[in-house]
Amino acid sequence: MSVTAVTAVAADRSVRAPLPVLGRDVTVPLVTGGEVTYAALDYAASAPALQRVWDDVAAYAPYYGSVHRGAGYLSQLSTDLFENARVTVAGFLDCRAGDQVVFTRSTTDSLNLLATALPDGCEVFVFETEHHASLLPWREARVRYLDAPDSPRQAVTTLERALAGRAPHTPALVCVTGASNVTGELWPVRELAAAAHAHGARIVLDAAQLAPHHPVSVRDLDVDWVAFSGHKLYAPFGSGVLAGRADWLRTAEPYLAGGGASRKVTRRADGGVDVEWHDGAARHEAGSPNVIGVHAVASACKALTEAGFDGLAAREEELIRAVRDGLADVPEVRFLSLFGDDAPRVGVLSFVVDGWNSSHFAAALSAEYGIGVRDGLFCAHPLVRRLLGGEPGGQVECGATESLAAIRVSFGAGTPDEHVE
Ligand code: PLP
Repeated sequence: MSVTAVTAVAADRSVRAPLPVLGRDVTVPLVTGGEVTYAALDYAASAPALQRVWDDVAAYAPYYGSVHRGAGYLSQLSTDLFENARVTVAGFLDCRAGDQVVFTRSTTDSLNLLATALPDGCEVFVFETEHHASLLPWREARVRYLDAPDSPRQAVTTLERALAGRAPHTPALVCVTGASNVTGELWPVRELAAAAHAHGARIVLDAAQLAPHHPVSVRDLDVDWVAFSGHKLYAPFGSGVLAGRADWLRTAEPYLAGGGASRKVTRRADGGVDVEWHDGAARHEAGSPNVIGVHAVASACKALTEAGFDGLAAREEELIRAVRDGLADVPEVRFLSLFGDDAPRVGVLSFVVDGWNSSHFAAALSAEYGIGVRDGLFCAHPLVRRLLGGEPGGQVECGATESLAAIRVSFGAGTPDEHVE
C-alpha cells in the first residue's frame, strides 16, 4: 500500500460534517452526584483531535516504521509520509520557495530552537504581553522587553520606536504573537512585520493561538518564521512546527546533537571526533522523529484547508457573543482585554468574577457542573498581572492558590451551543 493509499482510506471516511472532533459527548461524574456531558472550554490549552486526524493516524498506525533509517517497505512509506507532511505544512502556511519546515515538539520547542540559531550580537524585541514561550527563550541574547500597548496602532509605534533606537547593521529579531492566549485579541502582525523589516530586523510569529483559528500566510504577512503546536491545532500527538527562512537555521549549531542531524562522523588522529552536519531541516531534527505526530499535524492542516476558516471564524464569533450575552446580567464578571472589548479576537475569553477566587471558581465549575476551563496566569504572568491592575513585575506566587488570577474559556471546531450555555 502506498502513502497516498493510506491517506486516501482515511480521507474517504472523513468526508462528512465539517471538522467534527473527538470527545464532544464525554460524560463525567459530578461531586454533587450524577453525571453530565463535559463542556470542554479549554481549547486554547489543548484542542481535541479532529475525527479526521484520528482516522488518518489510525489508518497509518499499522504501517508505522522508522523514518530515514530503514530500507524496508514500511520505513520507506513512513519516510515518504514524513517528508510529504513538510510539503503539506509549507502549503498550509503559504511558505516562500526556499523556506524550511522543521518538525519540533511544540511552539515552545520551535522558539527555543530559533533562539539557538540567532546570529552573533542579535538583539531581540518582544512585548511583555507574550506567552512565556515567546518571552523567555531569548534570555541568552540581548533582549528588549517592550511595554504592553493599549491598541494595535500603539504596538506598531512602540516597536518602531524601539527598533529606531538600536545599533545600525546589527542583526535583530522581533517575536510576536498572532493571537493572545489570554484575551484572544489579534495582533497587527502584518504591520509589525513591515516595521521590523523597515528597520532591518526579522520577525518570528508565534501562531500557537492564531493558526487554529485563522489562515496564516507567511508570504502575505511577510514574516520570517512561524511557530505553532499540533496539539492546539486538533492534532494532539506531540509535534510542532518551525517554518521559515533557511539561512539562520543552516549556519546554526544543531539544536540537538545526534543521528539524523549528522551527515558524516569521523574519528580524528588525536582521538576526537569530527562531524559534518546536515544543512537542511534534518540538521535540527536529530533522533528518531515523531512520524505519527507529524502525520497528525499534516492531516489537521489538510482538514482545516479543505474546510476553510471562514465558517470556523463565524462560528467562534457566535460563541463569543453567546458567552458575553450569557454573562451580561452578572455584574461581578469583568472581561480582560488590552485593546478593548470589541477588538477582533479568536475564540478565547478571560474574565474574573469579583468577590471570587478564580481558582476556586474554576474548580467549582468542574466539580459541580462538568465545565472545563483554565484558571491562573496562563503562562503570561506580566500580561495577566497588568490586566488585573497589578504591576507586571509584582511579587505574586503562581499556582493553584494564586489570588491574582483569571478564568479563561476557549473553544473552536466542534464546540456545540450547549457547552457554552
Ligand atoms: N504561544 C502561545 C500564544 C500559547 O498560547 C502557547 C501555549 O499555550 C504557547 C506559545 C506554547 O505552546 P506549547 O505549550 O504547545 O509549546
